[in-house]
Amino acid sequence: MKVVAIGTGYVGLVTGVCYASLGIEVVCLDIDADKIALLESGRSPIFEPGLEGLMTKAVEAGNLSFSTDYPSSLRGADIAIIAVGTPTEEGGSKANTRFVEAAFASILEHHSGELTVVVKSTVPIGTNDHLNAIKEESASGASIHLASNPEFLREGAAINDFMKPDRIVVGPRDATAAKALRALNQSFIDQGIAYVEVSASSAEMIKYAANAFLATKITFINEVASLCERVGANVEDVAFGIGLDQRIGPDFLSTGPGYGGSCFPKDTLALVDTAQVEGSPVRILEAVIDVNEARKQEMADKVIQSLGGRENARGKTVAIWGLTFKPNTDDLRDSPSIAIIPALQKADIKVQAFDPQGMEGAASLFEDVDFKASALEAATGADAICLVTHWPEFAAIDLAQAKSAINAPRFIDLRNMFEPAAMAAAGWDYKSLGRPA
Ligand code: NAD
Repeated sequence: MKVVAIGTGYVGLVTGVCYASLGIEVVCLDIDADKIALLESGRSPIFEPGLEGLMTKAVEAGNLSFSTDYPSSLRGADIAIIAVGTPTEEGGSKANTRFVEAAFASILEHHSGELTVVVKSTVPIGTNDHLNAIKEESASGASIHLASNPEFLREGAAINDFMKPDRIVVGPRDATAAKALRALNQSFIDQGIAYVEVSASSAEMIKYAANAFLATKITFINEVASLCERVGANVEDVAFGIGLDQRIGPDFLSTGPGYGGSCFPKDTLALVDTAQVEGSPVRILEAVIDVNEARKQEMADKVIQSLGGRENARGKTVAIWGLTFKPNTDDLRDSPSIAIIPALQKADIKVQAFDPQGMEGAASLFEDVDFKASALEAATGADAICLVTHWPEFAAIDLAQAKSAINAPRFIDLRNMFEPAAMAAAGWDYKSLGRPA
């Protein structure tokens, strides 16, 4: 079997590398020649733990290659997996499917035989049907069988998530696509991994509903954390207590500065848009989006309060620890830091920042931020530390050293990484989320 993975981003590259490491012949295709050149030199354009090593092995085994060329990549292919981006439309809330349509148009143009086209990108419900209509109207001689196959991997744990998924969801539009997808995923099916075969529309909906639910869970615990602060309860204990209930489960109950990343913000917006267009609004999700936006501003306010209010905060310097939307990725898309830093700057606060993997991308995202080479350097001469991303290395930092480097020992922990009692005992003015001081 030969597979072409189209788009070598966080999903496409992981998908291609993982299938290749299972012994399937894979070509990873991208229109970005720089990315392909980097991949051909053995380097990954994204930071994802374990990816580069697996990639090298698959290339050495002769199962994986990279290309910018549609015709040669598609020659002899059985399956093409579209994993290009679907960002929010500029100035709107719909998912922009133009990259998916462009990839599909290239397939129609450059392929002549039988091919199963799997849409792995997160796309609005009805997109597979829409692509099928495009195919029907095209003059292409290709015999195309479409299928939805949404991806649920998490950046930072992508290899493990892909290789050991909770379930695989497929929505083939015909029997040929269903057969091809089963053959592609046979090793997973053999391991007993749940294989959910539904209509294309249901598969597309499953992806949006899953992300909407998870975004809701995060937002719920964030509001509970704020309430805990008022009533003197501890959100960590509350999350543990409710998470033991099997109907609720322990995951996604960690309070934080609001969800971000390349999926939840755009996917929640897109689902709300679809629901409104269809006249069946999902009001709970509309509230989630509003609450999450407000959350980021509240986090900036928390920092300002810790500096003694707006007047006192003016001219002060804050060290931001962590810029990516979560640890173990270099992805900054819709990271809470993107809202928090400008809100601090608007209050005339200077920002010095450090992130273990996000510095390169951050340079073009933020203005007037003094980027430092380490977390300790960022803390040096600052009036407070604000921990935004829970990189494990931050937990290992010598806080006594940070305390001697900082102007005033203020610590605003937006991930509840440290223990309030220990921080207070060490002389820090320590604020966290939803826990008694
Ligand atoms: P990405 O932006 O990291 O990568 C997209 C890649 O597609 C880029 O390298 C780009 O050059 C390439 N591309 C664009 N147009 C192309 C074309 N016509 N032909 C070939 N290549 C083309 O995107 P991503 O984060 O991997 O997301 C891809 C899709 O997967 C999105 O729909 C996203 O919602 C979904 N998804 C993402 C994640 C995640 O954690 N990032 C998880 C699940 C699902």
